[in-house]
Amino acid sequence: MEKTTCIIVGAGPAGSACALSLARKGIETVLLERGRTPGEKNVSSFVLFIKELKRLVPECMDELELERNIVRSDQIILSDDDVKTITSFNYKHIRNPVTFSAFRRKFDAWFAKKASMAGAELITGMTVTDLIIDNGRVIGVKVGDEELYADVVVGADGYHSKVAERSGLNPVLDPGQCLLSVKEVLNLPAEVINDRFQLTDGLGAELGLWNYDVNNFKSGTGTLYTNTDSISIAAFASVADLKNKNMKLHAYLEKFKQHPYINALIKDGTLREYQAHILSNGGRIAPEKLYGDGVLLCGEAGAIMDTMSGMGVPTCIVSGMMAAETIEMAVKKRDFSAGTLKNYLKYLDSTSLLDMVYESSKVGEYWDGAGKDEMPDDIKAVADCYNKWWDVDYMSKDYYPLMANLFFKIGKHFMPKILRWPLGAAIKITSLYSKTCEKIKSKIRSRYYEWKKQYDG
Ligand SMILES: Cc1cc2nc3c(=O)[nH]c(=O)nc-3n(C[C@H](O)[C@H](O)[C@H](O)COP(=O)(O)OP(=O)(O)OC[C@H]3O[C@@H](n4cnc5c(N)ncnc54)[C@H](O)[C@@H]3O)c2cc1C
Repeated sequence: MEKTTCIIVGAGPAGSACALSLARKGIETVLLERGRTPGEKNVSSFVLFIKELKRLVPECMDELELERNIVRSDQIILSDDDVKTITSFNYKHIRNPVTFSAFRRKFDAWFAKKASMAGAELITGMTVTDLIIDNGRVIGVKVGDEELYADVVVGADGYHSKVAERSGLNPVLDPGQCLLSVKEVLNLPAEVINDRFQLTDGLGAELGLWNYDVNNFKSGTGTLYTNTDSISIAAFASVADLKNKNMKLHAYLEKFKQHPYINALIKDGTLREYQAHILSNGGRIAPEKLYGDGVLLCGEAGAIMDTMSGMGVPTCIVSGMMAAETIEMAVKKRDFSAGTLKNYLKYLDSTSLLDMVYESSKVGEYWDGAGKDEMPDDIKAVADCYNKWWDVDYMSKDYYPLMANLFFKIGKHFMPKILRWPLGAAIKITSLYSKTCEKIKSKIRSRYYEWKKQYDG
């Protein structure tokens, strides 16, 4: 009977982060991946928020094949015949990069290799088909007829997690708790991209596309970003919403692409890749369902995902690292029961990750409500007030408070003092979300640095 200390199912960001951390601790680890190479099964391109990864692999920027350093970030509010944009260039990011466009195929393969070079055994082409459970306790995995045993099994197998399902931690997939995304990667020469987005070689742009046709969709959004010689464009919507409204997301993406503003940016692009993928909206699994006897869930398998920014990779990495801390403790105690593995929540809590996931899913609901039909009263009031003030239909009610905030900053100098306070207060409420999230994120980072110091010490 083959037995190891830890089997990790899935060599995505969560699984590789966990495997690398365990291997560095000298804990025997087997990392199983169904793809022939890690990354083969994952959404092709992505925007990598680099800081969390840098903490785990300080040399990552020298080794990784990255596309463009994102210095331009736009928020774009689209309606059929009107577009409002906020464009921000941050050239500080040239010296101090924060996000890069990159390809998962290269990233996942590199990350899994790091884990394997540190001592984890990476086995590809292995699809885990079931768990081996004895008296309610997970003691191994099945790969077809083959059986592999371990003290603990980590489910890092993404949204459709076999480990979450078979362990009973999350047997049901609820369409209300996930988003569908379709994405295209379109080839375009690097010089054309540079011209259209005011960039130079190596520098990139990321555009958030908001509110388009939100009357029909509760949470339809999109994103567009530049790779070296291609553009990625994706549309996202809640699966429940798509089902209820009997809509096809690829049709929605097509509509995005036909919009004159977007069309001018992607014109003449030729299709390189097309993909559809599901991701969690953050609200799928309760914390007490992230562990059981002999089993832990991390990354999207445990719905640990920052819905608001869509940046799942860093949150998955941190959860993988925290799973490794928990397993180290279990190895020391020689106890892999739920009682010990429960400490996973303590480790996660030390990074504020779960708070952030929860807050971020709430923020998602808030933005869902910011559509034309269900816009919170305070935002409506702001829009009405502006329309009256300017005596034109200057601001449509479905525009984001972001625009309100901007216009307020400009407009307040021309406004009677009596109006400034109530209007400012209303706008402050609408911008609460970003402040809350910034706070949570900086809390996560500082807790993480503290933790890392102890870890390094
Ligand atoms: C369209 C789209 C765009 C996104 N863009 C971004 C972005 O720009 N930036 C960002 O940070 N995040 C982005 N995300 C989110 C991010 O992709 C996920 O949060 C992240 O990939 C989850 O990591 P994970 O390790 O938990 O799971 P995954 O990345 O899903 O990895 C799971 C791994 O497990 C393997 N696996 C699954 N089942 C089995 C099995 N039974 N046996 C063996 N192996 C198995 C899979 O092949 C895969 O390699 C995006 C998501 C989508 C859908």
